Amino acid sequence: MSLPTHSSSSSSLARSARGLSFEEARRLVEQFAAGVSPKEVETVDLLAGLGRVLAEGILADRDFPPFARATRDGYAVRAADVAEIPARLEVVGEVKAGDWPEPGVCSVGRGQAVGIMTGAPLPEGADAVVMVEHTLPIREPAVKLVEVRRSISVGENFVPRGAEARAGQLLLDRGRRLDHAGIAIAASVGKSRVQLFRKPRVAVLSTGDEVVEIDAMPGPAQIRNSNSYSLAAQVQNAGGEAVRLEIAPDERGRLRTLIEEGLGCDLLLLTGGVSMGKYDLVEQVLGELKAEFYFTGAEIQPGRPVVFGSHKKYFFGLPGNPVSTMVTFELFARPMIEALAGMAPQPLIFLRARLKSEIRTKTGLKRFLPAVLSGEFEDAEVELARWQGSGDIAALARANCYVVIPPDRERMEAGEWVSLLMRSG
Ligand code: AMP
Ligand code: MG
Repeated sequence: MSLPTHSSSSSSLARSARGLSFEEARRLVEQFAAGVSPKEVETVDLLAGLGRVLAEGILADRDFPPFARATRDGYAVRAADVAEIPARLEVVGEVKAGDWPEPGVCSVGRGQAVGIMTGAPLPEGADAVVMVEHTLPIREPAVKLVEVRRSISVGENFVPRGAEARAGQLLLDRGRRLDHAGIAIAASVGKSRVQLFRKPRVAVLSTGDEVVEIDAMPGPAQIRNSNSYSLAAQVQNAGGEAVRLEIAPDERGRLRTLIEEGLGCDLLLLTGGVSMGKYDLVEQVLGELKAEFYFTGAEIQPGRPVVFGSHKKYFFGLPGNPVSTMVTFELFARPMIEALAGMAPQPLIFLRARLKSEIRTKTGLKRFLPAVLSGEFEDAEVELARWQGSGDIAALARANCYVVIPPDRERMEAGEWVSLLMRSG
């Protein structure tokens, strides 16, 4: 991976006292993300590719559909023969799915019909399919007839050969993350193995003297390292492979060693130690390493002290408060991981829903507040999860989205349409 060059003057600009607006910070990450790409590829069984990123385009190996395919059960006819209704046609054969109507053997001539089932090829001579619901079979001693009770137009109830895709056409782009629909496409063209990008290795480094491993018994002033796990889960969810490092104490030497270890991966995510406290050493240590900083704060809440920079590899310093960590990951780290995983850039799209109850807040920051989207079908409503601030993981676990409040609003009324960021994963 090579880093795009960025002049130190623009990075010092990014470091100005005022943090960037959310949009400025996000665009900056997107710009840097546009300059990275994975190098290594591997070939895996199709289903093992679920959630991973294609390193090859998937092409149609033949026309889709490969034959004119009936989309209804009924009769293949010539539309001109049923222009006047009711019309009686002679039934000269039947094609079910999997049959091949040999031209000349099973064709539709004037005044004739062929029984046809959904998924079967349209016989030669026919130009439409009448639904069985619009017909009545008539049994005469010598011939089999069908009465058609509704006229139809040429082309109805079948899909012409190649109408969905032509042989050789690109069906899925390189850079596409395989979901179940992508798996279906690869399967339909016979790709039982697919070429994928290797997942980026993303180092996760938690910092803080109070943080202990989750299988240790925390002392009275200690907390378990939940961030390392939530981040590892988010990394996996974004298409990366998490490498959880040992916890860094608030002590320069060890922190520096672990940061250097983390910079051996494709990306480094740090949590904690980026605020203004006396023992928030992450920026200082990265500064000693001559790292370049693109921003050291964004006008958002939670997550205001978020840091983005590079030192051979990109890194993000995410605030240690668990909710801040999760939110800033979604807003800033995710697009970089997706790019390192080979994915085409994904726009960050907010949905909208009606607010269930009023929100009062302060102006100045763009807020991403844990919220619960509920209701049924088209009647979705959203309300804030009751929370005790950015450390409240229990509130976040109850939430399923974030309400996005613009920096110039201090009050949002019940019933108002508000923007939402759905929680992924
Ligand atoms: P910091 O960003 O280091 O000032 O930490 C802010 C808050 O987040 C403090 O209450 C920390 O105890 C908490 N915190 C920091 N790191 C973690 C972690 N790895 N897991 C859970 N909570 C953390
Ligand atoms: Mg700390």
